[in-house]
Amino acid sequence: MDTIAAICTALSPSGIGIIRVSGEDAITISDKIFKGADKKTLKDSDSHTIHYGHIVDGDEIVDEVLVMLMKAPRSYTMEDVVEIDCHGGILVLKKVFNLLIDNGCRPSEPGEFTKRAFLNGRIDLTSAEAVMDLISSKSEMARKNSVSMLNGKMYELIRKLREEILYYIAKIEAALDDPEHMSLDGFEEELSEKINDIQDKIDHLIKSYDNGKILKEGINTAIVGKPNAGKSSILNMILNEERAIVTEIEGTTRDTLEESYDIGGITLNLIDTAGIHESDDVVEKIGIERAKSAIEKADLVLYVADSSTETDLFDDQIIALINGKKSICLLNKSDLQRETTKQELNAHFEGSTTRPIFLYTSAKTGEGKEELFNAIKDMFFAGEISFNDEVMVSNLRQKNDLVIASDSLKKVTESIENSMPEDFLSIDLMSAYAALGEIIGEEVSDDLVDKIFSEFCMGK
Ligand code: GDP
Repeated sequence: MDTIAAICTALSPSGIGIIRVSGEDAITISDKIFKGADKKTLKDSDSHTIHYGHIVDGDEIVDEVLVMLMKAPRSYTMEDVVEIDCHGGILVLKKVFNLLIDNGCRPSEPGEFTKRAFLNGRIDLTSAEAVMDLISSKSEMARKNSVSMLNGKMYELIRKLREEILYYIAKIEAALDDPEHMSLDGFEEELSEKINDIQDKIDHLIKSYDNGKILKEGINTAIVGKPNAGKSSILNMILNEERAIVTEIEGTTRDTLEESYDIGGITLNLIDTAGIHESDDVVEKIGIERAKSAIEKADLVLYVADSSTETDLFDDQIIALINGKKSICLLNKSDLQRETTKQELNAHFEGSTTRPIFLYTSAKTGEGKEELFNAIKDMFFAGEISFNDEVMVSNLRQKNDLVIASDSLKKVTESIENSMPEDFLSIDLMSAYAALGEIIGEEVSDDLVDKIFSEFCMGK
């Protein structure tokens, strides 16, 4: 494979910037532009050593650097890898990078280093995807999940399931090939039991996707309520800062604002919306439409009601809109004289199929903030906010393959129930085996590999 190079750190002035080179000629090319202070070439140096010296362009010194040498196969890509720690100036990094290109490197494509690690067999596809998830993880829980994937937890799980399936495929095939010596009498019962067991494990992983996705992307949270109920103030209370404009004039939150906030390891993506309120004002109308679409897209709705005023028809309109959604009703302004209680508001949900949790809050004093955070954690992780060892699928590609595997196993069970010939069983077992293989990258097309890695960032 040709030798690739990339600037791996962000292109902005900083203390150091790192350029990575990988491939057959990584060391010889680096030797052309690096002069070590000890006068030794990288080629003649031991692997896993660090060298102080200069990058030179002919006689001109370009930068003072540290060079890290990792010879194949003990490197990220399993190829010869040289990492050059330059000073972090944009110009410096570009100059060193261009020198490498002039001397025979090719600029890498996004994710190409990790792709090579995968193609050279150092990591499986779930670990490769975890690398990207780790880099982009927004919360502590997402980071932990990515690390456990990176360490091969998902790979191990899938590998074991495939092994079990393969055993049964082999047994059926052997019996079909040699019916005189291999009998499948009574085998179907055993197979049926085993398939149910494997299917349960796969379905469990599929179910984990909802939480896994929320871990990775955060909980899309819409804050809705009548004008002046205190939506912007609640947003500020959650964010702990003055992000949204708070005024006493009704309908001032004209546009939607989005902000992410980490509450004890999980991320809330908050969308503040204009009050749900019939209005002639064009700008407000757009805002109301957005509130409605925000509710549709939301995983969680925070309905802010003003507990210092009486409820009215508008509350019923909002209640109708949030029906069926996971929602928490905040009776805000609890520091003021109470005109509406939890019980009274609850009565408005008579016709709804779902009931929210009711909490008294005061955006002014901060009352109810902790209760709100705890209610959200309970709602989404059944109180188990501390990340346990369970693997959560957070990747749609992986989930889709799990669904294919599960469907194929369902067909196997049906075939057994309908006493279909054994070769039917083995066809569906094979397709479950292949779908699981695609997850870890053992049965995966080149196009898919290219697509997956093209979503990576440069230099990774
Ligand atoms: P929005 O239109 O729903 O976004 O409401 P705002 O957040 O702009 O708040 C409207 C008014 O109510 C502002 O004057 C806030 O200072 C006030 N307000 C909001 N929350 C509280 C609260 O908990 N207690 C009191 N006393 N006033 C509040």
